Amino acid sequence: MSQISQNLKAVLHELGTGVKLVAVSKTHPKEAILEAYHAGQRAFGENRVQEMTSKQPWLPTDIEWHLIGHLQTNKVKYIAPFVSMIQSVDSLRLLEEISAQAVRNRRVIDCLLQIFIAAEETKFGLDESELIDMLEHTSVDSLPGINIRGLMGMGSFTEDANQIRKEFAGLKDLFDRVKAHYFPDNPAFDQLSMGMSGDYRIAMEEGSTIVRIGTRIFGAR
Ligand SMILES: *Cc1c(COP(=O)(O)O)cnc(C)c1O
Repeated sequence: MSQISQNLKAVLHELGTGVKLVAVSKTHPKEAILEAYHAGQRAFGENRVQEMTSKQPWLPTDIEWHLIGHLQTNKVKYIAPFVSMIQSVDSLRLLEEISAQAVRNRRVIDCLLQIFIAAEETKFGLDESELIDMLEHTSVDSLPGINIRGLMGMGSFTEDANQIRKEFAGLKDLFDRVKAHYFPDNPAFDQLSMGMSGDYRIAMEEGSTIVRIGTRIFGAR
């Protein structure tokens, strides 16, 4: 058994049935994706549009592609025909463009709103007040091409497990409040994407439903 499929199997065993794995394949060649695919993995995450669109045509059509990196409005059109979920939505303008391009492709694209939770200043995402502002001023129902499925966040790049746990717990709390207030009758708002190779165990304990794992499966980048 290949290293990739061994790693995959070990991670899936830890996740159990309640948490979905998105295998983050950025910087790795399509051969590595195929290895994971043949071991049963279907959901893959890329952080760049250019990389995703160059790999996608060569790979099986039942792969579920997740965009997890910052997305510019003018690039939505390149992934709209096939992307399964955009996890990194951080503005209303982007949401509107995703909806428009999805409609053009006769699709509905699942989206997560990316929330800024880390201590560092370098990560993308909305803070809580920006999120609330966006939800107050959008009639999400008026955007037919999108389905807002939940929230995504990245913890701080730190060894301090307590810090990371606090950030994940805060995101879970925000998720619960947003769901209760803005999506009370929408069972599709049910996904909380948090946890990477270094912190997915903590994320699971704090209520993650999707983890995004690259290094632990494909090796170092
Ligand atoms: C690269 C990346 C991951 C995966 O990181 P690993 O540490 O390799 O598991 C997860 N989420 C996002 C947004 C990423 O950019």
